[in-house]
Amino acid sequence: MNRIVIVTGGGRGIGASTCRLAAERGFAVCVNYRANQSAADAVAAECKRAGVRAITVQADVAVEADVVRLFETVDRELGRVTALVNNAGILEQQTRVEHMDAARIARVFGANVTGSFLCCREAVRRMSTARGGAGGAIVNVSSVAARVGSPGEYVDYAAAKGAIDTLTLGLAKEVAEEGIRINAVRPGFIYTDIHASGGEPGRVDRVKQFVPMKRGGQPEEVAAAILWLLSDEASYATGTFIDLAGGR
Ligand code: NDP
Repeated sequence: MNRIVIVTGGGRGIGASTCRLAAERGFAVCVNYRANQSAADAVAAECKRAGVRAITVQADVAVEADVVRLFETVDRELGRVTALVNNAGILEQQTRVEHMDAARIARVFGANVTGSFLCCREAVRRMSTARGGAGGAIVNVSSVAARVGSPGEYVDYAAAKGAIDTLTLGLAKEVAEEGIRINAVRPGFIYTDIHASGGEPGRVDRVKQFVPMKRGGQPEEVAAAILWLLSDEASYATGTFIDLAGGR
């Protein structure tokens, strides 16, 4: 099977590490980005140096027309997708529920939940053996926040990640007979830029004392689990979760 992966939000953080490792493992890579083109271009260039085909595609995963265009571009330029990593996600400024308006909640659910939903739909349309596809694997990037709820900080984000967990469970069963596996990873505190958008750039170092392993995680440690779930070594895993949170 041709191995062609789309990584949403692939230009930075966990997504960028996932693109690099996928290229090392021989995947042709589509690096999706929303705003930061130069970062995505740099990741695609690294993938090409690993000897694989790589493209960048701008698309806001919360916008249906963008997602359709993203997958159509991959069809045309790389071929039929066989792997999808729903990594794109946002965190907004830490606050309590009294200060969360509908626009904020829509943004958080749009990037995290609607985006994952729409990309799963487009991937299933192409991968399903019932529709002439060759099967495939999807990994959703959730968070341990889905399990702890993130009270007083960002319950909106935690609830969105909870929705991603339920999406993973339900869709995995829905398409299990069609050659598609869907799993999720739940990272803990990982050193990326996302904590700056939550209003706490140095958060990981400040909170690592609450992690049983007493350290934050690196994006590469999440990417390794994602690539395992995409690989044939995980051929009997679907609807499952890997927590990457140092024991938290
Ligand atoms: P970063 O902030 O470093 O990267 C986020 C990426 O998502 C960027 O590439 C960004 O693109 C992209 N993105 C955001 N919104 C959209 C959108 N609407 N459409 C397309 N792309 C979008 O964060 P991380 O690497 O930390 O986050 C990756 C995933 O991991 C997220 O889902 C996050 O919730 C999850 N996670 C992270 C944890 C952590 O501690 N870091 C812990 C648990 C989960 P652009 O660069 O163009 O803006």
